[in-house]
Amino acid sequence: MAATQVPEFEHPKKAFGWAARDPSGHLSPFHFSRRETGDKDVAFKVLYCGICHSDLHMVKNEWGFSIYPMVPGHEVVGVVTQVGSKVQKYKIGDRVGVGCLVQSCRTCQDCNDNLENYCSSYTLTYGAKSSDGTITYGGYSDSMVVDEHFVVRIPNELPLDAAAPLLCAGITVYSPLRYFGLDKPGLHVGVVGLGGLGHMAIKFAKAFGAKVTVISTSPNKKQEAMQHLGADSFLISRDQDQMQAAKETLDGIIDTVSAVHSLVPLIGLLKSHGKLVMVGAPEKPLELPIIPLLMGRKLIAGSGIGGLKETQEMIDFAAEHNVKPDIEVIPIDYVNEAMERLIKADVKYRFVIDIGNTLKQSS
Ligand code: NAP
Ligand code: ZN
Repeated sequence: MAATQVPEFEHPKKAFGWAARDPSGHLSPFHFSRRETGDKDVAFKVLYCGICHSDLHMVKNEWGFSIYPMVPGHEVVGVVTQVGSKVQKYKIGDRVGVGCLVQSCRTCQDCNDNLENYCSSYTLTYGAKSSDGTITYGGYSDSMVVDEHFVVRIPNELPLDAAAPLLCAGITVYSPLRYFGLDKPGLHVGVVGLGGLGHMAIKFAKAFGAKVTVISTSPNKKQEAMQHLGADSFLISRDQDQMQAAKETLDGIIDTVSAVHSLVPLIGLLKSHGKLVMVGAPEKPLELPIIPLLMGRKLIAGSGIGGLKETQEMIDFAAEHNVKPDIEVIPIDYVNEAMERLIKADVKYRFVIDIGNTLKQSS
């Protein structure tokens, strides 16, 4: 069985990255292999890869379905090195990116609706079984080989390092802002949790013309959120007086929190018919209070990344409206420390690994 082969010899192309071997989540150098570039495949040299909190959940097996060894990374950008004979959209030298998905069935209703992210048989960029039976490895590595359908173009206006977080953090907040109608000028949008996803939610909501209130556990993020990221107001979620004073002021909320937290105070911030959209993915279930929802016909929903068409649209929108993630670029050998800092919410606002300059076989 291919899946049980030694990763280094599974495929013809040598590849190198950093992998977690067990739920300690510790990452270290790892030799594996990539498939030959198929007719519809784009092969690219990875230059940068963002660190999503999902990578942290995954390397530690917090969601319970991790497969080891695991090379994380689903905010991957680089430059095309080879294209298959049937590739239409890309050529060698193009700037490209790959997000959370590398395959889907391409025939179901969701795929036909450009919602590959809701296809029940999609393949995640890492830690998943692909259609040939082998396990996928992500972007904390030197190269990728991906079907062109799952590749997006990075416009020249966007620097490659800052473009990386758009592939997951960006689309994950852009898609619900659009779908739930929170993209209209004059609306008042709340953003809970000021990390990678949260800071992108502020930027996109502001670009749509909304007023934005951040709801955070970190008082030290207030000044920067308002002066630099463009938030209009900032609430400390543990400060009951502040939360009370802001009751029933928000049209919608994007909740990006990665840990278990109470929803009651957030529902209280919504106006009647307000929408609380969950995008954070805590490892344990949250309590769902019903009565506060009934009082005002409020809605709680979820949203997961976005389809490929919308991901390209989001990146083009970001380029056009100068929406850029705030990043801390790190070398690959800082990755374990970066994960520790992510646990402590100590990030402004996305770590991006400089793969091109720092991933060396000797590291
Ligand atoms: P992140 O950068 O670590 O940000 C999460 C933020 O949540 C923290 O900065 C912190 O903000 C807040 N927070 C953390 N622990 C908290 C706690 N115990 N109580 C209240 N607030 C807390 O993470 P991220 O990369 O933005 O990802 C956020 C979540 O979204 C993760 O669970 C990730 O797996 C999930 N995710 C989902 C999708 C999707 O498709 N739906 C896609 C990508 C990621 P403050 O300091 O401001 O409180
Ligand atoms: Zn992610």
